[in-house]
Amino acid sequence: MIITVAKSAGFCFGVKRAIKIALETVQNAGSVEMLGDIVHNEQVVQEVEAAGIRKIQFLEAGEGKTLLIRSHGAPESVYREAQQLGYRVVDATCPMVKEIHTIVRGRYSQGFQIIIIGDKQHDEVQGILGQIEHDALVIEHADAVSLDVIRDIKRAAVVVQSTQALANVHAILAVLEQHIPEVVFSNTICRATRERQAEMETLPPDNDVVLVIGSKTSANTKRLFELARAVNMRSYLIQTRDDIMPGWFAGASRVAVTAGASTPDETVQGVIEVLQSL
Ligand code: SF4
Repeated sequence: MIITVAKSAGFCFGVKRAIKIALETVQNAGSVEMLGDIVHNEQVVQEVEAAGIRKIQFLEAGEGKTLLIRSHGAPESVYREAQQLGYRVVDATCPMVKEIHTIVRGRYSQGFQIIIIGDKQHDEVQGILGQIEHDALVIEHADAVSLDVIRDIKRAAVVVQSTQALANVHAILAVLEQHIPEVVFSNTICRATRERQAEMETLPPDNDVVLVIGSKTSANTKRLFELARAVNMRSYLIQTRDDIMPGWFAGASRVAVTAGASTPDETVQGVIEVLQSL
């Protein structure tokens, strides 16, 4: 069986950086807290918690504590509130996400209606929304575009959650351009996501079986799986080596392996070892 591992499989630059900052911060600062999980991956969350970083739901009294902002970023109000409560803030927001914040603030100050293509509930989108005072419009799918709402917009600046699929973005953009006189589009899908998705154009058709490794809570992992499954029905989403079923590989001579941006290299390595043993 030939095993092909996607070059882009596993941690992206932004996640690696955030974990490094988190582990360095906890070594140097006493009490470190973060709002939510550092990334959407159970093993990484456990590692970070074991290092002494506490996950909180709400900001509390912050004297003597450090608040770590995760790679997804956070609304401006979180920084303000944290400082008022006495926290020291360490910012591990991915620079690509920071760039989206800068674009949104700039276009908003020029009078554009901000439109974000992405998952409304995702932390990254919430962080982008929190860069401006008035509500931006968030659109998830082309068929969710409300014509009643967008017909009243004269000038729109469109940005994209960094891990969106390009095809979905183009479909939404086509509807917006049809109804809004001026649309300025910034393709803010990050390079790591583009590379991952580009590999999914060739791996599923070229292989008998495709394994996508990552947490079921990770949006970018689920998106990779959807891309793979659309082309190759023998695509499986697994969290670790323990989920592998030998029956999936009956008659298969080529297997492709990829992984979401928040999947550790050790997890990918564990899957490869099981495949080699098969
Ligand atoms: S997926 Fe892209 S934007 Fe998000 S953390 Fe990774 S590199 Fe940064």
